[in-house]
Amino acid sequence: MPSQVLTILNQPSADAPAHEPGASPFRFADVASPQLSMLDLGVTRGDGIFESISVGNGRAQAFDHHLSRFAQSAARLDLPTPDLEVWREAILATIDALDDAEESFVKAVLTRGIEGDGRPSGWAFGSHSPDFTRERTEGIRVVLLDRGYRHDIQHTSPWLLAGAKTISYAVNRAVVREAERRGAEDVIFVSSDGIVLEGPTSTLIFRRGNTLATPHVDLGILEGTTQANVFRFAEERGLSTSYEVVTPESLQSADAAWLVSSVRLAVPISALDDKPVGVDSELSAAMNSYLRNLRD
Ligand code: PLP
Repeated sequence: MPSQVLTILNQPSADAPAHEPGASPFRFADVASPQLSMLDLGVTRGDGIFESISVGNGRAQAFDHHLSRFAQSAARLDLPTPDLEVWREAILATIDALDDAEESFVKAVLTRGIEGDGRPSGWAFGSHSPDFTRERTEGIRVVLLDRGYRHDIQHTSPWLLAGAKTISYAVNRAVVREAERRGAEDVIFVSSDGIVLEGPTSTLIFRRGNTLATPHVDLGILEGTTQANVFRFAEERGLSTSYEVVTPESLQSADAAWLVSSVRLAVPISALDDKPVGVDSELSAAMNSYLRNLRD
């Protein structure tokens, strides 16, 4: 069995025609061969959405949360509503076809398809995950970068799609290159009016005493599935949780901080803009163990 699997959906949305009427809802395809038209708006405009789902020992984690967020992102972009039952089956089939591994992931992508064609493109790509042991144990250096938008754009300017998981990630990649130029590995965005937001592919969580906190979801940031599970973990351990509006200065004084996301899971922050941050190794290990062993 392979370490990578590609599954293409025949009819990603019941609101749009199938690519091949009467054919099965999805088919496996050769990962190494081209499958998508160069005219697809996902390619030419970055017009589409995605979800990356952790798979632990063959089980999709936070699956319902990912699927509901996928549907919300589609609604925000006025994409045809994804047929979640077909997506669920296609993703489960992708996982089944993957060679066994402790940690894998599936990336589900829905694009607007070829301009004027009216049929969205949809596929699920499954793969074994890279080894994140170093990041999860030693932590990573992070820099704060200005996102250039106010913290309230979700309300003032919903067309900017803040908080939707779109495939337009060129900026999210550019900031990591900027972090590398500054001797760091990752980034936390700050709004133009000085509020701490999120990472380019992760949610920030920080600890003050016995409380785990995260930036309020109302700040135009993605509502994280991993953050939701880390809060469940915290509550089971008797820690308090809270959603906050934080400034960079206040974040600097946290006892510990993490960037959390599907696939990479919880990565402690060891330095913030060159200032050391305490790495809580015990809590990081417990968090990652909890996340790795989630049953759904
Ligand atoms: N914020 C952004 C911008 C992301 O791209 C991601 C994940 O890719 C996250 C947060 C974390 O979300 P999740 O924990 O659901 O993977």
